[in-house]
Amino acid sequence: MNFLWVAIAVVVVVVVVGLVVWTLRRRKPVDSVASVALETPTRPPAEPAAETPPAEAPAEVPSVEDASLETPEQPASRMVRLRRRLASSRNGLARALADLLSADKLDAATWDAFETTLLSADLGVGPTTELVDGLRAKLGVEGTSDPAVARQALHDDLLTLVDPSLDRSLSLTHDAGVPAVVMMVGVNGTGKTTTVGKLGRLLVAEGNTVLFGAADTFRAAAAEQLTTWGGRVGVETVSGAEGADPASVAYQAVERGVKDGVDVVLVDTAGRLHTKVGLMDELGKVKRVIEKLAPVTEVLLVIDATTGQNGLAQARIFAEVVDVTGLVLTKLDGSAKGGIVVAVQRELNVPVKLVGLGEGVDDLAPFDPEQFVQGLLGE
Ligand code: GDP
Repeated sequence: MNFLWVAIAVVVVVVVVGLVVWTLRRRKPVDSVASVALETPTRPPAEPAAETPPAEAPAEVPSVEDASLETPEQPASRMVRLRRRLASSRNGLARALADLLSADKLDAATWDAFETTLLSADLGVGPTTELVDGLRAKLGVEGTSDPAVARQALHDDLLTLVDPSLDRSLSLTHDAGVPAVVMMVGVNGTGKTTTVGKLGRLLVAEGNTVLFGAADTFRAAAAEQLTTWGGRVGVETVSGAEGADPASVAYQAVERGVKDGVDVVLVDTAGRLHTKVGLMDELGKVKRVIEKLAPVTEVLLVIDATTGQNGLAQARIFAEVVDVTGLVLTKLDGSAKGGIVVAVQRELNVPVKLVGLGEGVDDLAPFDPEQFVQGLLGE
């Protein structure tokens, strides 16, 4: 009888031990998943970051550290990259040309529609008439059987209007120990401060040493905004107190430029359109005071491409009070009015030297007529 109880106890123990072992084995994979999950946070944080592809947006507005680490994009490749923005769907010119070429018959109504598109692209009445007349003569009233010929004709005529023969280089030649000085002028909000920042980076990319002068002392945040840009692009900013005399800040900036032996001083100015005489006095004084120390080699007038004829009228006032040597057309990225390039050059008799095609640090390019026309035509 005792023997029977012992046998039963042994069987029970074997079964219980077997069950425990079986259960433990089944739980093992669960434990390992849990341990991986617990280990994850202790991984070095650099690993997932390295796997993530670099996003485009942050690269356009890098922090101070990013900007100083990376090599700025070279001027030559900028317009090629930015051409795509011009060729975006907002651009009506390419579509108008396609409509023109797909029309069964080039009748008066078709030409009218084409002319309207050119006008609404802000090409101006004179250039539009020249372009349409020239194209009509080339294509003939019957139309052309070859769209490539028509496209080439429009391309060539637009290029002639933009005028590839103009000298668009910035004059920055300077004697040793005396910096070249660039004054940025124009109506508030056109993009002067932003352009000073972007131009600083462009010049640094070309191997120049640069200093910013924040002579827009009227707008409360202007000096701060420029200093922030300076930090982004690795350029120092000389600024004065809010409401200080702009000429004295400009003087201090150039004085510092001479002392530090920099190549270029970029001076941001206020764009108050109070009265024409007031503006003339203000900008005239800034220029005169700077020239006690160094010649002003460029006066760049900044024009917002989206403001059309109104912007052009305001720009004309600046051109009357100060000798403008070059134009900067900003915000061409957000505009279907690329024709303004032709209109402003004709109106002010000064070449467009730079174009702004976005808000990022590298979204300023030396103006290239061929790339520009290709962008306009969506090529
Ligand atoms: P300022 O008053 O003339 O100095 O003008 P700001 O430099 O402060 O620029 C006014 C606004 O225009 C800002 O929001 C800029 O980011 C924007 N801006 C300047 N240039 C461009 C450009 O080329 N494209 C676009 N989309 N925005 C621009």
